[in-house]
Amino acid sequence: MKNEEVLEKVNKGVYLPLMEEFYTIQGEGFHKGTAAYFIRVGGCDVGCHWCDVKESWNAETHPPTAIKQIVDNAAKYSDTIVITGGEPLMWDMTPITTALKNKGLKTHIETSGAYTLSGDWDWICLSPKKNKLPEGRIYDEAHELKVIVYNKHDLIFAEEQAAQTNANCILYLQPEWSVRDKVVPMIVDYVMNNPKWKVSLQTHKYLNIP
Ligand code: SF4
Repeated sequence: MKNEEVLEKVNKGVYLPLMEEFYTIQGEGFHKGTAAYFIRVGGCDVGCHWCDVKESWNAETHPPTAIKQIVDNAAKYSDTIVITGGEPLMWDMTPITTALKNKGLKTHIETSGAYTLSGDWDWICLSPKKNKLPEGRIYDEAHELKVIVYNKHDLIFAEEQAAQTNANCILYLQPEWSVRDKVVPMIVDYVMNNPKWKVSLQTHKYLNIP
């Protein structure tokens, strides 16, 4: 297939730049502890300095892959599929979520919300970033808000973001892994004083699994 044809398919969300896919345990947020199949889509321009998947940023380094192949593969492993990145909303998520749902699978997304929400989701984890704020509608749709805490100012940012979410959205503060020893006591203290928040830990990292 010619490059232009591939690019057109990527632009339509029929192909996606696939970085990796793996069956593991969801380590974070509301569904922590649940077995799930992860699809990591390449491409992100949000630029978090502490990002632990910087190799995802350049979409061109990840092979454009037909969503049929991705979905058929995912269905072999789990009924819960988490699409993550990178920033998956850089691409049209409608075709892949439609295909997953047609197979009776549950669709979850982890997103910064920096691009317009597309797709049909059973669970939206919104993890906003200061450098590129979410686009409006996703605050109404998000099931959980997960703010990564790297320093004290992130708690102010967390409150600003929580003020924009819908009333049912579950609120999580999650320590950034590389500074966890420093920020966990601060988060624990904050959650005890502000119990609308919950602590989210990257339990998969403690379990030493992907
Ligand atoms: S939004 Fe996610 S993938 Fe993108 S730079 Fe930030 S942490 Fe990394």
